[in-house]
Parts: sequence; structure tokens; C-alpha cells
Amino acid sequence: MLRLPPYRYHRPSTVEEAVALLGEHAGDAMAVAGGTDLLPNMKHRLFEPGHLVALKGIAELKGIREEEGVLRVGAAETLAAVAASPLVRARFPALAGAAAHVAGPQLRNMGTLGGNVCLDTRCTYYNQTAFWRRSLGYCLKKDGTVCHVTRTGTKCVAAHSADTPPVLMVLDARLALAGPWGRREVPVRDFFVADGIANTRRAPGEIVVEIRVPLASASRRQAYVKLRQRKSIDFPLLAVAVAAEIETDGVVRSLAGAVTGLGARPKELTGWSKLAVGARMDDALLDALAERARTQCHPLENMAVDPEWRRAMVGVYVRRALERLRG
Ligand SMILES: Cc1cc2nc3c(=O)[nH]c(=O)nc-3n(C[C@H](O)[C@H](O)[C@H](O)COP(=O)(O)OP(=O)(O)OC[C@H]3O[C@@H](n4cnc5c(N)ncnc54)[C@H](O)[C@@H]3O)c2cc1C
Ligand code: SF4
Repeated sequence: MLRLPPYRYHRPSTVEEAVALLGEHAGDAMAVAGGTDLLPNMKHRLFEPGHLVALKGIAELKGIREEEGVLRVGAAETLAAVAASPLVRARFPALAGAAAHVAGPQLRNMGTLGGNVCLDTRCTYYNQTAFWRRSLGYCLKKDGTVCHVTRTGTKCVAAHSADTPPVLMVLDARLALAGPWGRREVPVRDFFVADGIANTRRAPGEIVVEIRVPLASASRRQAYVKLRQRKSIDFPLLAVAVAAEIETDGVVRSLAGAVTGLGARPKELTGWSKLAVGARMDDALLDALAERARTQCHPLENMAVDPEWRRAMVGVYVRRALERLRG
């Protein structure tokens, strides 16, 4: 049986209290929302914080509402609530769909949107018990000095594996953060960095308070598709989000795409506007966009599934997502 390491559990009732607790125990405290990722990771001794600061009792982190042209989702709202929200389903079906594709029902009832955005990266050599990892001499991300994927020992390339961030990226969403230095807003597009050890720009002691999606993006056609081993429970081996403005005559006015499950951050697909804007969504364009995406993506052996096959699937899944946009 895997047991949790000992820790003290704090239940702040305001964002300010939570930030103060994280500051007071800096280096030895972590925020916990649903705990669906953090607690298994603690059982694997990937994290051993002496203090957990619970976010679910903070009223400010709850609620799904429209205000001043923005959909505002509290960071501690559950994925089940996001997936079922009539507001989210009507305005941002791809976001509701991505939330509905995370794990299984029990985990979506506990797991939150904020926790999904801040999810730790994953790797075959990392998401293992301490015993398993010790037998291999650990790795760069935790307790070791070498990367078993790249074998160079200088960089961690564990995979960003959360479902909702690519959708949030193509919908121009922003994150409201609160930390020891006050509050700020960051576009989701700028939130992630290509470092598998710490893949976000979140400062120590900073928490995500709200996820904000501009209602202007609701007029875009949008789609989300996910490749996984089983059709329930599993993390993405690859996921694709796309959003486009398409005129009534079928001509593309704007197009954005993002993929995840490959490298340490969700990747925005580039060069699409040049190919698509002003053109019609015909089969030739879909093929060109899918091929462009495939050439930009280079999956590594960070998951127990052949990287070349995953690369081939990039083209297939991008095309499927675009076909959904075309309707
Ligand atoms: C069997 C299984 C299958 C899964 N499948 C998927 C899947 O298919 N897709 C997927 O995306 N995820 C999956 N997950 C992971 C997880 O369930 C979800 O990502 C969930 O959304 C995490 O949210 P949480 O509230 O439980 O996060 P927690 O576990 O509470 O926290 C996760 C991390 O985020 C930090 N954190 C949480 N909230 C905040 C905040 N507001 N501000 C700052 N930091 C914060 C925590 O400190 C921690 O580092 C799976 C998990 C399991 C156990
Ligand atoms: S990519 Fe390398 S360093 Fe990162 S978790 Fe995997 S084996 Fe460890």
C-alpha cells in the first residue's frame, strides 16, 4: 500500500489567507484543490510538502458567470461543473468537451479547472513509485541527475498532459493570479514554458484565482479531440484544440490550433493563418494544415507509446478537429 507522507492541512477561507500561508511555509507548502493529481504524486514521493493549503473552501474561487464580456470560472470549480454548465456548453462547447474528457466521473467531481491548468508534467520514468524510480537511479526531474528520455542530463522533457489548456489557448483565455506581490493577469498562451520540471510562469506562492475567457471568442467555431489508450480515465497521448472564424460563404477569417501531450508545454501551431485566411475549408486546405502540424511536432519517448506513431497521429487528429470545425 502506498501511504501519504505526513503534512499539516490548512483551510483558509480567503485568497489572501491562502497566499499568506503559502508564504509563511515557503518551500514546504503546496496548494491543493481537488487533490486528484497532487495526492497520488505525494504517495509516489514526487512531492513531500509539510503543509497543504486547501483552496476548495475559498468562496472567491467558486462560480461560473458572465461579467463585462467575459466568462469567469473560479479556479476551484470542478471539471464536472464546467462540463455541465449550460453557460459553458452554449458559449464554449470545446471547453466543456475538454473538461468532460478529463479522467473519469469520480475524478471530474473532485478535480478542478485551476488544478488542471496547474497540472504537473508527466513521464514514464517519473510517474512511478519511489521504489521503482530508485531502482533506475531516479531522474533529473526528481532526485536524480540524468534524463532517461534524452539521455543528456540537461533538460527535462516530461509531457504537459492537461486537457483544458490547449482549448483555453485558442480561445484567448487569461488567468487571474494572486501572489505575495499582489494580483495579475496572464494570457494562457504565455503561461507555459518548455521546462518539464516547472512548466508554468507561476511564481512561488502564487495561486490561480480565476480563468477568464472573452465572450468575443464564443462566435468562433471550436473543436477538441483527444487520443488516449482507453476511452475513459486515461491522460491524453495527444490532444488538439482548434478555433476559427468562418464567413457565411465558407471563407476562413481566422484560425488557431494548439496541441498537447507531446512536450513540456501545450504547443500553438504556427503558420496556419498564412495557409488558411482568405481560403475555403476544402479538403486540400485541411490536408495542408494537418501536414504542417505534423511537421511541427516531435513527440519523445516520455510516454509508453511509440513516439513515431504519436507523430503520425498528429496529422490524423488535427484533420479530425478541422473536419469538426467545417461541420
Ligand atoms: C487516473 C487518473 C486519470 C487522469 N486523467 C486525466 C486526464 O485525462 N486529463 C487531465 O487533464 N488530467 C487527468 N488527471 C489529472 C487530474 O485528475 C486533473 O488534471 C485535475 O483537473 C487536477 O485538478 P485537481 O483540482 O485535482 O488538482 P490538484 O491535484 O489539487 O493539484 C494539481 C497541481 O496544481 C496545483 N494547484 C491546484 N489548484 C491550484 C490553483 N488554483 N492555483 C495554483 N496551483 C494550483 C497543486 O499545487 C498541484 O501542484 C488524471 C488523474 C488520475 C488520478
Ligand atoms: S523527461 Fe527525463 S528528466 Fe523529465 S521526468 Fe522524464 S526521465 Fe525524468
